[in-house]
Amino acid sequence: MAIFITLRCGGRGEGRSEFGKYRCWSDDNDDPYVLAGDTKKDAYLSLEDLFTDAKSAGWKRINGEWMCPSCIAFNAENKKA
Ligand SMILES: [Zn+2]
Repeated sequence: MAIFITLRCGGRGEGRSEFGKYRCWSDDNDDPYVLAGDTKKDAYLSLEDLFTDAKSAGWKRINGEWMCPSCIAFNAENKKA
């Protein structure tokens, strides 16, 4: 058995077109994820890998929420970041 853990983007769903150039990664289920062992300790330890993967893919934690690269770019262009 394993526990599937994935990030969800904090910028998802702000009235943007699904088909725009800044489509949120979470709308495509293209989020970083890990498969952890099935204990609390395994799950906890796997978070480190999850966050490392997220950072290397361009995700950032902004104001306490993980944001995908697409939403970061959208916010930068709209001066909300
Ligand atoms: Zn996003």
